[in-house]
Amino acid sequence: MARYSRNDQAGVELPKAKLDRESLRQALELFRYLRPYRGRFSAALAALFVGSLFSLAFPYLAGSIVDAALLQNKGVGSMAGMDRTALLLMGVLALQAGLSYFHFLSFATVGQRSLVDLRRDTYARLISLPMTFFAQRRVGELASRLSADLIQIEDTLITILPQFLRQSTLLVGGVALIAATSLKLTGIMLVSLPVLTVVAVVFGRKTRKISREAQDRLADTATIVEETLQGIVNVKAFANEGYELNRYHEGLGKFLTATLRGARLRAAFVAFIIFALFGAIVLVLWSGARLLQQGEITFGELTRFILYTTFVAGAMGQFAELYSQLQKAIGATQRVRELLRETGEVETRLGPPPPSTLPRLRGDVGFENVDFTYPSRPGVKVLQAINLTANSGQRIALVGPSGAGKSTLISLLLRLYDPSAGRLLIDGRDARDYRLAELRGQMSMVPQEVLLFGGSIAENIAYGKPGASAAEIASAARQANAHEFIQAFPEGYATLVGDRGIQLSGGQRQRVAIARAILKNPAILILDEATSSLDSESERLIQEALETLMRGRTSFIIAHRLATVRHVDRIIVIAGGRVVESGTHDELQAIEAGVYRRLATLQFRT
Ligand code: ATP
Repeated sequence: MARYSRNDQAGVELPKAKLDRESLRQALELFRYLRPYRGRFSAALAALFVGSLFSLAFPYLAGSIVDAALLQNKGVGSMAGMDRTALLLMGVLALQAGLSYFHFLSFATVGQRSLVDLRRDTYARLISLPMTFFAQRRVGELASRLSADLIQIEDTLITILPQFLRQSTLLVGGVALIAATSLKLTGIMLVSLPVLTVVAVVFGRKTRKISREAQDRLADTATIVEETLQGIVNVKAFANEGYELNRYHEGLGKFLTATLRGARLRAAFVAFIIFALFGAIVLVLWSGARLLQQGEITFGELTRFILYTTFVAGAMGQFAELYSQLQKAIGATQRVRELLRETGEVETRLGPPPPSTLPRLRGDVGFENVDFTYPSRPGVKVLQAINLTANSGQRIALVGPSGAGKSTLISLLLRLYDPSAGRLLIDGRDARDYRLAELRGQMSMVPQEVLLFGGSIAENIAYGKPGASAAEIASAARQANAHEFIQAFPEGYATLVGDRGIQLSGGQRQRVAIARAILKNPAILILDEATSSLDSESERLIQEALETLMRGRTSFIIAHRLATVRHVDRIIVIAGGRVVESGTHDELQAIEAGVYRRLATLQFRT
């Protein structure tokens, strides 16, 4: 009462209470994944509940058997009464076994099915998130979030939650049945309960914090492994295995410290519980023995009593552990929810994408007074006052010293980021007015480092147009000058590439990427020229393929070697985030102290 009135006076709610309610609400929101399976889930809950009630019948019937035996000894009861009770007990056990089978299987089925849905949605959200999100996080951390946190949630749905319900029923039912037998004994037993509960809550809070920290530290080590394996060639080339091992070892050390701290806390708690719980049992036993001696209860009642007490004590003992597990799960749901709540930039769905309603773009591109600052580096304007127009079908080369902002400009064109100020116009319309997936559907990029996915060459080319026919793929490969080398492999287009297949040479990968782009048939094309030079034959094949690809499309070429940009329509020279010169090769060469001329002189000299 006092707390509420204080809140009212302050006019705000206590932040802590709000946070807890909020975290619980978030956790419950994930329960909507159970909705499609609610029938089976409810049936499983009912089976669990009834099964637990049957468990409660066990001590009762056991007590009855003892009493019946004693009565028979005194010549009052009959053998039949004892046998009937034993048979009844067997029947109860059989029913309980059947119910257990059903609810165990049902929880597993429902839990795993809804988790598959949750995993799919989390992954879908993850890959649809904007670049700003990925720029601020490490890949390993995200991968760990997807696996570790979801495993925690899985554990909750399949084991912890059912256990929690079962133990609650046993606790409440056990206490009620004990109370029906002897209030005095119940009172004695319950004295220890509040103490245990308070300790459990305090402990739960502490472990929640520590286990979250331990999980974070473990995710850090996973990141190290992932980074090392991704860059294994670099690691070996620098002979840095020892360095990586040290880094990993340090990470593990931090993880170990955090988990051991949690383990110490838990060990102390277990010790306390054992002492307190068994202490309570001894107390009950001792009081029960006295009541029996005074003739207040029967042998059978004492038997019931002791069995119920072990049930209740067992439930209490499990409660603390379950409670801390639930808290862990809430921590995990919070993080998964955080991820699900981020807004994706494109819609993700299963199956083929809906047909685009956007007519084919002409490919006019305009940057109007564009400024750009990376969200991860506020205060540094990477691009400033960029004005640039490219008409349909034109070829524009972007040149400039390293770090000038060429790739950033392209990122804006692909709408990986939006301008901080100014506008990007595509066919005269603000780029933000298009649906992102449709806009990107008409752009294509041939990157410097071509990444091939594990799969066949045909699949890799078809990445430009999922569902393309074999004839379309071969035609694209022909235009990209890739058909011949692909045909030369014994398995042709079915040859596996990537991690588990063969490795293609740099030039071959480039041509596969070009075929991919040709198949996509974009209106706007981005070429990030490879910095490494290839042998002249390979170079010729690629140049030819690129010529085919660029025909009739607006093309932006990030040029590192100025020899390749002589014949473009316009060269844009970027330095320090600004457009400093623009014109054809000849025009720019004519500028006396120009940046382009200086760059060109340097390159041709080497
Ligand atoms: P290069 O020719 O070497 O590829 P570039 O002209 O393409 O260089 P950008 O990659 O656009 O240059 O980089 C421009 C500036 O923006 C650099 O100072 C770089 O450090 C910075 N930068 C690039 N990406 C990010 C990012 N994700 N977050 C913060 N800053 C970035």
